[in-house]
Amino acid sequence: MSEENAEHDGARDIAEGARNPPGTDEETIAEQRTLLVQQFDNDLTLEAYLQLTPPKYMARARCSAACCNFAKEARSSHVEIKDDYRIMLGVRERKFFHVTCFEHNIDPSSLLPARLKLDAASYRWNDNWPWTWGLIIRKWFDCKGYIDLNQIAQYIDDYEKHEEESGEWDTIEISRQLAQQRGDGSVEDAPEIFLLPPTVTPTLESYAMASDLPCALSTVLQHKYVERLAPAIAINSIISGDFSLVFPERGFRDLFPPGSIHH
Ligand SMILES: [Zn+2]
Repeated sequence: MSEENAEHDGARDIAEGARNPPGTDEETIAEQRTLLVQQFDNDLTLEAYLQLTPPKYMARARCSAACCNFAKEARSSHVEIKDDYRIMLGVRERKFFHVTCFEHNIDPSSLLPARLKLDAASYRWNDNWPWTWGLIIRKWFDCKGYIDLNQIAQYIDDYEKHEEESGEWDTIEISRQLAQQRGDGSVEDAPEIFLLPPTVTPTLESYAMASDLPCALSTVLQHKYVERLAPAIAINSIISGDFSLVFPERGFRDLFPPGSIHH
């Protein structure tokens, strides 16, 4: 079965019946919510995934929400999901949702960590590589949604500033050492500030990441830094089962060991 057919087959509404006879939007959403919760309760292997929406030239799945805001806006019964990210529910019997439509039915953070995962599968349209998820998204999953977006954004800003300053300082330091070797004193005459070593490398442990309330997944996905990666990135030449495209951030694990937040 092609991916297109599988997706569209999977996109059969779980609450199709809920539309006939039509109820109010609230009733329809409530019915689908109940059905979804029952599905998760009854099938302990059921998992949802956050994944990238395939590019335009590929077939795109339609939203399975019984009350899809985008379909409503388009005055259509179904619309294709065109957002950058989407939710896939189930693996064999797949259904797809706009993230916001899925949120209307169930709080994604309540499914973490076992029932909602980052899609780590390889994508044909990504040269058969898995997607490299941005730092903020990974932290949302790590912390079950309890992240402070501003603090992580500040960490990314500070880290990049630090990297830039380190690079500048390295260049000046090398020039200074070369000049010393040549007996040229001109670089020592440079203003003192340029000879100061860079500041300490920022670490996530110096940023309070937890917040009192879980952050909505759709809010995370709308953040301007959503695709920004962890500062240190390496691509292994050998692909193994547990390889990672992104190294963990400095200091994060020490401060928030897995599962230590908001049990
Ligand atoms: Zn939708």
